[in-house]
Amino acid sequence: MEFGVAESGIPLVAWKGLAREERFLYFMGGVHGDEPEGRDLMIDLLDCWLKNDLGVPVVIIPEFNPDGLIKKTRVNARGVDLNRNMPTKRWGAPLTPSPGETDMTRYFAGAEPGSEPETRAFIRLIEKYPPCAIVSAHSWRPQVNYDGPGREVAEILARFNRYPVTTDIGYPTPGSLGEYAGRERQIPTVTLELPEKIDRKEAWDIHRPAFEEILNWAKKTVLQ
Ligand SMILES: [Zn+2]
Repeated sequence: MEFGVAESGIPLVAWKGLAREERFLYFMGGVHGDEPEGRDLMIDLLDCWLKNDLGVPVVIIPEFNPDGLIKKTRVNARGVDLNRNMPTKRWGAPLTPSPGETDMTRYFAGAEPGSEPETRAFIRLIEKYPPCAIVSAHSWRPQVNYDGPGREVAEILARFNRYPVTTDIGYPTPGSLGEYAGRERQIPTVTLELPEKIDRKEAWDIHRPAFEEILNWAKKTVLQ
């Protein structure tokens, strides 16, 4: 299903499972175009789950930032960091660089909150198909970071990948998905930071059982 169009005209594509439910488990990748590890993991997940009857309504968005993925840039085609552009209360608050970061243009939050086509399309999507939890795969320093009531989902992932569970990545992220969905809307939201350049098959082998466990968690808890 297309849920929007990026600046270049490339459609934003989400795969949605069973539609009769009211809440959906979201898996996303490719928010930052220079972090292909998360996109690859979500494509492998989609390949696997397409063939199965999951019993849980799922939305998978492997390439949230298709323009950035093509250009291998963190930002979208308009130079905006989509993980700083969500219209949150703290949007646009001064950013402190992450350790070792020199180029702050990589974190540009946009001309105004929710200014980007990808951001607006995502907000429309979650209003139509509300998430019961969101897992968004990135790559940086390996960790399972959560916002809002995301601890249980984060701990499931950490049980399999052994990355530390964190509530703070060390610097503020105003306008992030975690802030918008997790903190402000109390949707369990997990940012999975894979190790940079992790072998694709290794990442899939580690996370496949974790994702299945998250399905089971959703069946037992939030989708009751
Ligand atoms: Zn990222």
